[in-house]
Amino acid sequence: MNYDVVIIGSGITGASIARELSKYKLRIAVLDKASELPAGASRANSSMIHGGFDDKPGTVKAKFCVPGNKMWHKLKDELDVHLDECGSYVCAFSDEETKHLGKLLEQGKTNGAPGVEIISGDELRRKEPNVSPDIVAALWSPEAGIINNFEAVNAMIESARINGADLYLETLVTDLLLDGNQDIRGVATNKGEFLAPVVINAGGVHSGEIASWAGDYSFRIIPTKGEYFLLDRTTRGFIHSFLFSCPSKAGKGITVLQTAEGNLMSGPTATEQEDPEDRATTPEGLAEVLKGARRLVPNFPVNLNITTFAGVRANTESGDFEIRALAKPRGFVNAAGIKSPGFTSAPAIAEYIAGLIKEELADRITLTPNDKFIPERRNIPRFLYMDMDSRKALAEKDPAYAQIVCRCETVTEGQVLEAIRRGARTITAVKMMTRAGTGRCQGGFCCPRVAEILSRELGIPLDEITRHGGESKLLVGKTKEFLLKKEGAANE
Ligand SMILES: Cc1cc2nc3c(=O)[nH]c(=O)nc-3n(C[C@H](O)[C@H](O)[C@H](O)COP(=O)(O)OP(=O)(O)OC[C@H]3O[C@@H](n4cnc5c(N)ncnc54)[C@H](O)[C@@H]3O)c2cc1C
Repeated sequence: MNYDVVIIGSGITGASIARELSKYKLRIAVLDKASELPAGASRANSSMIHGGFDDKPGTVKAKFCVPGNKMWHKLKDELDVHLDECGSYVCAFSDEETKHLGKLLEQGKTNGAPGVEIISGDELRRKEPNVSPDIVAALWSPEAGIINNFEAVNAMIESARINGADLYLETLVTDLLLDGNQDIRGVATNKGEFLAPVVINAGGVHSGEIASWAGDYSFRIIPTKGEYFLLDRTTRGFIHSFLFSCPSKAGKGITVLQTAEGNLMSGPTATEQEDPEDRATTPEGLAEVLKGARRLVPNFPVNLNITTFAGVRANTESGDFEIRALAKPRGFVNAAGIKSPGFTSAPAIAEYIAGLIKEELADRITLTPNDKFIPERRNIPRFLYMDMDSRKALAEKDPAYAQIVCRCETVTEGQVLEAIRRGARTITAVKMMTRAGTGRCQGGFCCPRVAEILSRELGIPLDEITRHGGESKLLVGKTKEFLLKKEGAANE
């Protein structure tokens, strides 16, 4: 396993770095412990491509947010990713909060966020009739957008793979390997050693621990949970954009948004916790979300909720990103502590890291442009959004596109087969790549069908198919056998 670069983690940060580095003639390995992507914070977040007014000028976050936003507006076409260019509003309920909007406006101008302006509460209500009558003013950011984050991460890593990068899932990095000079030699994993003179730490909420293996204790990750409600797609158009509360010391506060797929959503809370992997929702957290949602949108139709979920932020004590190459061990680069606006910033961070390698690690690897780099990548056809003629044409060409597997999201067998062809091995991977199971019934209808297709196509027994790898098996055996075993045990 000899590479030029090993990237630990394939969230939006690692995937963007992999794609950026695939513009050069490099052997790149991306290692992720998960069975499908996205897995960490990149799976469960607000999916906002921020306008760039929220970050204090001079911070690392401010440096990358506006450039990242600009890049996504281009990348959405290149990578065939759904980005709703809907803009965002920060809502003020008092004179004091309106004053704060003024500060955000100035901050936005300093950061280079285009088009930010303050509008009246009435103007906001003309565009968004369901918002609170008590909102007195709002900061409008026209360049903000809402992205389909499942699509974005998969598109980014797929593009890197098209251009030669290798992705290894279910590969847990357990330590760094150093040479005699105590410089980077590679990483140790549950699947053996991967050797490379440059190792990039994009481990999200685990990036602090990974940095500590390199002797870097300069920052600590404080896992911070954010809980959400996700509503049925019939809520489309209830609001059209992204509504922020006025930020406070606790963070950006509860927001209400329409996802890129048209679901109403609200969250997140901000609760610090010890366990980086605890993504359980709580009655207290959800009560806080509902209160915040109803403040912005009084008739928030929570009765149409289809699921709740939580994501964990890789917060740092400084509140800023930790991006740098270490002097010792040489070859180790942190892209760590990437909290919000990390999704927005990822493509700009990736570009910066390529520059940093060129400037600071030229003795370890050379970045020669890859003249065969292909920027475009096409998504799996989205049957839901096609007109009838296009659907017919596709189904005639491939009858698997005439078989509906997921009724809620109108996902066809053709799409599931294509996801498997592109690497999906679990039910969640198919969900991330096709949206089968993301709708109102949350997989109640399609889950067994997807399992059957995975079993048939991969030649794996049905009871070996997992939801998300490891021991997350769906079936433990046949009901009759199970009952007979139980009966036998009772007779003994
Ligand atoms: C609640 C919440 C709301 C947010 N809202 C927004 C928003 O609206 N807009 C925005 O721009 N940003 C937002 N963010 C921030 C954004 O989601 C993150 O900055 C971004 O997703 C971080 O990506 P990442 O790749 O650095 O980390 P992750 O997505 O967490 O990826 C890290 C990857 O590393 C892997 N990994 C970790 N350790 C190991 C190991 N030892 N071996 C192998 N693999 C390993 C994990 O499996 C994971 O896949 C939000 C975050 C949260 C949690």
